[in-house]
Amino acid sequence: MATAASGASVVTRTDASAHARLRAVPVGDVTLHDGLWQRRVAANREHGIPRLLERMDSRGAVDNFRIGRPATPDLVRRGYWFSDSDVYKWLEAAAWSLAGHPDPGLAEVVSHIVDAVLGAQDADGYLNTNFRAPLRLRDLGWSHELYCAGHLFQAAIALRRATGDERLLDASTRFATFIDDHLRDGNDTDSHPGVEMALVELSRETEDERWRELAATLSGRVDLGEDSRLWGHAVRSLYFACGLTDLAIETGDAARVATIDALWSSLLEERSYVTGAVGGRWIGESFGRPYELPNEAAYAETCGGVAVAMWAWRQLLRTGDAAFADQLEHVLHNAVLAGVSLEGDEWFYANPLAFAALQEHDPWGADRLAEDMAGPFPLRRRPWRDVACCPTNMVRLLASLPGYVYAFDRERDDLWINLFTASTVEHGGWRVTQRTDYPWNGRVEIVVDQAPRGSRALVLRVPGWCRPLAGSGDGADALEPGTYSVLRRTWKPGDSVVLDLQMEPEALVCDPRVVENRGAVALRRGPVVFCFEGADNPDVDLRDVAVDPGSFTVEEQSDLLDGVVVLRGKGATGAGGRGPLYRPVGAGGPPPVPVALAAIPYYAWANRGLHPMTVWAREHVR
Ligand SMILES: [Zn+2]
Repeated sequence: MATAASGASVVTRTDASAHARLRAVPVGDVTLHDGLWQRRVAANREHGIPRLLERMDSRGAVDNFRIGRPATPDLVRRGYWFSDSDVYKWLEAAAWSLAGHPDPGLAEVVSHIVDAVLGAQDADGYLNTNFRAPLRLRDLGWSHELYCAGHLFQAAIALRRATGDERLLDASTRFATFIDDHLRDGNDTDSHPGVEMALVELSRETEDERWRELAATLSGRVDLGEDSRLWGHAVRSLYFACGLTDLAIETGDAARVATIDALWSSLLEERSYVTGAVGGRWIGESFGRPYELPNEAAYAETCGGVAVAMWAWRQLLRTGDAAFADQLEHVLHNAVLAGVSLEGDEWFYANPLAFAALQEHDPWGADRLAEDMAGPFPLRRRPWRDVACCPTNMVRLLASLPGYVYAFDRERDDLWINLFTASTVEHGGWRVTQRTDYPWNGRVEIVVDQAPRGSRALVLRVPGWCRPLAGSGDGADALEPGTYSVLRRTWKPGDSVVLDLQMEPEALVCDPRVVENRGAVALRRGPVVFCFEGADNPDVDLRDVAVDPGSFTVEEQSDLLDGVVVLRGKGATGAGGRGPLYRPVGAGGPPPVPVALAAIPYYAWANRGLHPMTVWAREHVR
């Protein structure tokens, strides 16, 4: 049996990690109240998790674990060779959901699936439905066996923390033993990272250093190249970075930290979209070159956004630096949330930042729908795709989201507030409620219902995006954007602090080395990036719209897109002159046509059918 009970549904357990500044607050200790995240997490729980299981199950992903049993002699394996990972990720999602919302029906379904998984484990500990001896662990260049194993470990850890069920964890340590015995020597490692962070977490959960050492061994076999930039497959690179960061949290070694810092700089300085999405290139689902960030042709896989959130979270736990919480907030509100429909049960794979929605006709082939034109994957959220990495990543992240809102200082009873959203946390002697309509309104009232005895700190993140701000209450005068503000005192029930974050619409420009964004602006308000969608701008050609960045005002629309803020302003089409496709400079053209414009949060686009959309628009120069 596994040792060391954790008994708390933390997403990442760093309470005994020598080089972690913070530790997580259990998912089950945070209650979300009505607001953006409560609605998205509820949609995930009520629609996303159950419907994804139905679709996965109907395609054989769960039955694959029952092949060869006396009761099911006719089953044959279906789906991709890595589809076991989908089942594990769904189990992880269900576990986090159960941590905050006990549901006997869901718990029973989970238990049956765990039974099926356990039944598929080989006597020697190996566990994968696609490979049988002698093909096991033979070709890690493509087999994804360790990648699948990593997701098994993460599911097992989540189930133990959330429900106390240890069966999958025991299966995991047996499988990890098999992997260690077979791969400790040699030079093999999986071409799709993921197992590294899972092994570190397994080590934390079982208090067995063997798994951390195996993670270090496997990750040490990867050659990042000389320049310590993020190259190649975006999700693989970021999962690898997560594993490196987890190792650094345990060991603190300087070389690893230097590599992580360099990779993080490369992410933010030259490889991220304004939405926080990553991986602009369809070919290889990869980062591409620095500043290679096309808008309509963006790949920007949903999993990439999820991976940025996972990495930012680990960086935050490691350092307590608000810059990482800023990025966590940013990617969650934009790149990640865009990946899922408002209903919670359809998902994007690619997340373009512009979309023409034009019907195309190909006289020499089948006519294609507009959404099929930009690449092999449809540019529409879909209920299923056989490569189901994105939906399964989304359901597990949203189910665990309450676990990212707060954190605890690892060595003191100080409560950190990372994300602003209406919620209550009860943990470590604290009971604290955030009253807010964030991200639609920047006013956040933090009420202390209960606090540990003695002098303790509430540590409030002051977002880097905000301008001069007002706070009220003792000590709130030292609030500096882009930092955590430490309010240390003897807290009494009823004490409160009010943060009043100024949220004006703001126009962003882009480094001109991103060629498509030259001369263009994107609108942001607070943590939310906006876009123009045809549904709100029916008579405007969004391909050449120019906007007057100073003209935008804020309008709350509770009846639109499950409650959003709309930015309304002015602009023009045809500015700069339409006319001959090419013409001499200064040859002019017809005058621009003024238009009224409305922008919605980027994450909410494509929930009203297929319409043109753009995040970037030229700045209107009059
Ligand atoms: Zn994906």
